[in-house]
Amino acid sequence: MKQATQTEATERAVPPRLAEEAPLLMIPGPVTISPGVAAAAAGPPPAHTSASLVAAFGAALDLTREVWTAAPGSQPFVLAGAGTLAMEMAATNLIEPGDRVLTLDTGFFAARMGIILRRLGAEVVELKAAVGDAPTLEQAREAIEGGSAAGQSTPPFKALFAAHVDTSTGVRLDPEPLARLGREHGLLTVFDGVCAAGGERFAMAEWDVDVYFSASQKALGLPPGLALMVASERALAARAARRAPLPTLYLDWESWRPIMRAYEERKSSYFSTPATSLVRALEVGLREILAGGLAHRFALHGRAGRALRAAWGALGLAPVAARAELAADTVSTLYFPRGVDNSLIARIQAHGVTVASGRHPAIMGTYFRIGHMGWVVTQPELLRRTAAAVAAGLADCGHTASVPAALAAADAVLAEPP
Ligand code: PMP
Repeated sequence: MKQATQTEATERAVPPRLAEEAPLLMIPGPVTISPGVAAAAAGPPPAHTSASLVAAFGAALDLTREVWTAAPGSQPFVLAGAGTLAMEMAATNLIEPGDRVLTLDTGFFAARMGIILRRLGAEVVELKAAVGDAPTLEQAREAIEGGSAAGQSTPPFKALFAAHVDTSTGVRLDPEPLARLGREHGLLTVFDGVCAAGGERFAMAEWDVDVYFSASQKALGLPPGLALMVASERALAARAARRAPLPTLYLDWESWRPIMRAYEERKSSYFSTPATSLVRALEVGLREILAGGLAHRFALHGRAGRALRAAWGALGLAPVAARAELAADTVSTLYFPRGVDNSLIARIQAHGVTVASGRHPAIMGTYFRIGHMGWVVTQPELLRRTAAAVAAGLADCGHTASVPAALAAADAVLAEPP
């Protein structure tokens, strides 16, 4: 008897009705991906040496530079791994034992960066803020200028690391003035764009940023599995000028740079096996992001963020982000109202939408998170489904919540051009 193909077997395993009823994934990564990206990621994996993969990889690297709005002399890196690998790669190439680094603590992931930097032997000065708030530019300036003031023995900072959006709090920093501050004082600037790249405006060359890194499973709208970053010429020179060799081969930009350059020249090369199916999906995903223009993609995230914040306001939900200008467009972080707890997440799921629990240790169990990034921002109906499911879940918890009120608030924003 003929063996069933993989597709036939999958179709049998998932009855169509159930597939239709699969909950909509609205956690802050992995996210719901576009049909085009899903199709590109499926199927037999190409060889890393195949002509089609070489073309896709080369195009994906060119497109990464475009989405990052990075300078021609910068170097994109795309490799198999998660966001934490991207964090470690950025830090490992730039930081050596004894280097002083300034970090801005806006949540769990910004704090993780501090942990990584300390493991590398850096002396980390962490600017703190209350949960949901962010250190100010003035505090950053004082820390930098205080540390290098005449007559003080403390060596100057080598770098400033910050999270563009910290997914644990939903706090978004404005990278532009921070990058300018860093530049004025000769610091390398590194931004974690894991919950931002492709969703929140970032102008790497214009702002003269040194490293912006991300992972595939968030605003870039791909499955998990790729770590991505672009390093400026200055960052590459800092890597080359290290006093000591890197302790790791896989994370070394210099292991990967010839490979990335070969692919950019549409040639194959090997250092370590790339995630070939995901690279194919990356080309498709980045083309989708750029199809209507990058500014339009950011505006769609902006509208999605505003629409859902309007719905949360109508439901009386309080955000973790302390001030309106700190609220990211890619993720909502919302305190449970009085009398509601983590069981809300299962109740929302019963209405067909998967959302996530909190991630910041200081407020764990008191809030939940909703991701709204990537392809879903192009689909107002999916955003409406999310607002309705959260309202219905709250009502099931006994909270006074009205689905029509949440929808009306979201619709008023979704009716605007992005
Ligand atoms: N930085 C930020 C801002 C994140 O949101 C995450 C993941 N949620 C990470 C880093 C780490 O990424 P990963 O889970 O892919 O290792």
